[in-house]
Amino acid sequence: MRLSNILSNADKPLISCEFFPPKTDKGEENLWRCLHELQTINPAYVSVTYGAGGTTQERTKRIVLGIKEKTGLSPVAHLTCVGSTSQQLGELLDEYAQAGIENILALRGDAPEGQDGFEATTGGFSYATDLIDFVHERGDFSIACATYPEGHPESKGGVADDIRYLKMKQDNGAVCAVTQYFFDNDTFFRFRDAASKAGVTIPLIPGMMPILNYEQIVRFSAMCGASVPAFMHEKMQPIQSDLDAVKALGIELATKQCQALIADNVAGLHFYTLNKSEATIAIAKEL
Ligand SMILES: Cc1cc2nc3c(=O)[nH]c(=O)nc-3n(C[C@H](O)[C@H](O)[C@H](O)COP(=O)(O)OP(=O)(O)OC[C@H]3O[C@@H](n4cnc5c(N)ncnc54)[C@H](O)[C@@H]3O)c2cc1C
Repeated sequence: MRLSNILSNADKPLISCEFFPPKTDKGEENLWRCLHELQTINPAYVSVTYGAGGTTQERTKRIVLGIKEKTGLSPVAHLTCVGSTSQQLGELLDEYAQAGIENILALRGDAPEGQDGFEATTGGFSYATDLIDFVHERGDFSIACATYPEGHPESKGGVADDIRYLKMKQDNGAVCAVTQYFFDNDTFFRFRDAASKAGVTIPLIPGMMPILNYEQIVRFSAMCGASVPAFMHEKMQPIQSDLDAVKALGIELATKQCQALIADNVAGLHFYTLNKSEATIAIAKEL
């Protein structure tokens, strides 16, 4: 189903799940098991990431097509500007359209490992705004975009810049925006209010990252500009080597965070599953 229809038909906050395309057969087996387990909570859509430098292009496509054929879930294919010309991106979009894939999450993407900062490919695009415009022109897709309640790490003008670019993404055809994960709901509410004042009317769907491994989250968060509140460090640090205890606390904290977001009328919750089902299922059941 198209994202625009999913969003307009939703009579309660929708739950969506994000996966990455695995590199190995074993990883792929795990992904399909995880997808089948998650079907029990009936996600409104599931999205599949696109690797840096277009490295996962073929795998992303195969998994997206597989989701449509094997599960009956609505897939969303992530697509980035990295390493591709507009012609290459156009050909991939045409393949998606022919296969009946209706939803694209259009992003700029990050530089591949070992490269300093993002560089636009000659004949390609510099920003997600340009890619969204292109996807919109190229086919009859429902388009999602990314946004950053704490500001994108490269944004020179901070959150105000991100809101301006979010409005451009909407104007270029995005029907919803999925946020970078955050742990402090007030940051999201402030961002949502400011975006609304700037004319952003599309739903902003909070990205949720339950903490299953404290050290990993601290590392990720430093890279992507998400802050970990002091109270979380205080609770997690003493138990960080006990992964079961971290997982239990991570699920408890994320459940409370989701409940508060739902109480404040979010359109949906997007779970960064890291190809694991347990935490998302446990949280969804509590909600
Ligand atoms: C929900 C979600 C899913 C993601 N999935 C993937 C994935 O599958 N694969 C992957 O590689 N990465 C993914 N990412 C990471 C993302 O690619 C990076 O955060 C990347 O650095 C920015 O992508 P973007 O689409 O937000 O870029 P943009 O919106 O283009 O922003 C990039 C920078 O440029 C600035 N900017 C934006 N538009 C303009 C403009 N028109 N003119 C001037 N400056 C501008 C912004 O302020 C920002 O600093 C995802 C992120 C999120 C939140």
